[in-house]
Amino acid sequence: MSPRCPICKKAVAPRAANPAFPFCSTRCKLVDLDRWLGEAYRIPAEPAGDGAGTPEEEP
Ligand SMILES: [Zn+2]
Repeated sequence: MSPRCPICKKAVAPRAANPAFPFCSTRCKLVDLDRWLGEAYRIPAEPAGDGAGTPEEEP
């Protein structure tokens, strides 16, 4: 059984001949990294306070 690229599902070259392993290419590696970072950014940071007065808010 040969490994498949998790991004595009193509066959992946062996690790020895493939610097982007376990992806088929550097492009797919970057796509995965981009997705991963995107998800990380989507996780909301800790709430900065419970609405204890926002200066920009006008009545
Ligand atoms: Zn790929």
